[in-house]
Amino acid sequence: MIDGMTSPTRTSNTPMPSDAGDRRQVRPAAEGWEQQRTPEGRPLLQFASPRVKQPPQHLADLTLAERQAKLKELGLPAFRAKQLSTHYFQHWTTDPERMSDLPKAGREELVEAMFPPLLTEVRRLRTDDGNTIKFLWRLFDGALVESVLMRYPGRITLCVSSQAGCGMNCPFCATGQAGLTRNMSTAEIVDQVVAANRVIAAGELGVTEHPDERVTNIVFMGMGEPLANYKRVMAAVHRFVDPAPEGLGMSARNITVSTVGLVPAIRKLADEELPVTFALSLHAPDDELRDELIPVNNRWKVDEAIDAAYDYFRKTGRRVSIEYALIKDMNDHAWRAALLAKKLNQRGRGWVHVNPIPLNPTPGSIWTSSEPEVQDEFVETLRAAGIPTTLRDTRGKEIDGACGQLAAAE
Ligand code: SF4
Repeated sequence: MIDGMTSPTRTSNTPMPSDAGDRRQVRPAAEGWEQQRTPEGRPLLQFASPRVKQPPQHLADLTLAERQAKLKELGLPAFRAKQLSTHYFQHWTTDPERMSDLPKAGREELVEAMFPPLLTEVRRLRTDDGNTIKFLWRLFDGALVESVLMRYPGRITLCVSSQAGCGMNCPFCATGQAGLTRNMSTAEIVDQVVAANRVIAAGELGVTEHPDERVTNIVFMGMGEPLANYKRVMAAVHRFVDPAPEGLGMSARNITVSTVGLVPAIRKLADEELPVTFALSLHAPDDELRDELIPVNNRWKVDEAIDAAYDYFRKTGRRVSIEYALIKDMNDHAWRAALLAKKLNQRGRGWVHVNPIPLNPTPGSIWTSSEPEVQDEFVETLRAAGIPTTLRDTRGKEIDGACGQLAAAE
């Protein structure tokens, strides 16, 4: 449904837009599917995961102390926990043949108990230059999730999924269409990174820069709302940053946790003392549009989300990112850039960075990319107001850029 090519709308406290007269306003709407709604007609939000079985426990679900306790239960010495952890987190292997430091007798059974297979590769798509690989994984219960591996000069980023499906019901998103299937386990999240490291080590991601390459940056921007799966996502972050062999030994600042604005969870995250990078997917500075674009805005409004993001900065000292997908005639008006800048500057200076992200061009859809000159005006308006702003590129256009498209097609 493409409805409402109506005149610009604004809330009573938003400034009179200077481009209100000559820019149209496209309203968000699901295209080709119907958003699930509550009896009151609001888009349905699912915060709790359906009570379905979780995958078998894996070494990466456990802290080092828990691994040692489990091995004791199995009648084995605790030091085996470090050996197994080294194989998984440093050599990225679960192959008993390669674990020659473990006694041959009982080795296979031990590996079976500690490393049940979690991700089965269903499809792999690669861009022509080989610098971007998108994976589609099947989980133990048949649920499908994706991750995307991207090589940039000097860094390698993996975009990971945190839930099978998603309960946030955003009208533009393929992942949200079927609702939330279940939360992913900690080890299912971690295993995406270990699998990616294997692929990099095999020389399969573009042109190798040096022999010890591995994933350097992780962004929680795949399928799911990470903060709706808070406990497991936090445990996964610990596995990423814990020093080897307990974890992958990555830098917390290279891990980006993003959210569409679950305010209480943002506040909890600020108290974790884990200096991860925090990103708020805002996409609109006015409640009138954001209520439709990001349904969770009906629960926590724009100002509450920005307040929580600002408090994250104050508590952690880490500069916050605001993600803003630029959608033609929907949220790309210069007056919205000015309103966003005003709301950010009201809280303070130097605490935030805005990343406008042009959507992929989709002819005939209301979800399509802004005109280049409109993008430039949006960026310039923010910069002129003193907000550091970087127009992002969208990787993987050739291979179905948006999250959830592969799984939806499957
Ligand atoms: S955009 Fe993100 S939060 Fe919204 S439905 Fe999709 S995966 Fe969930």
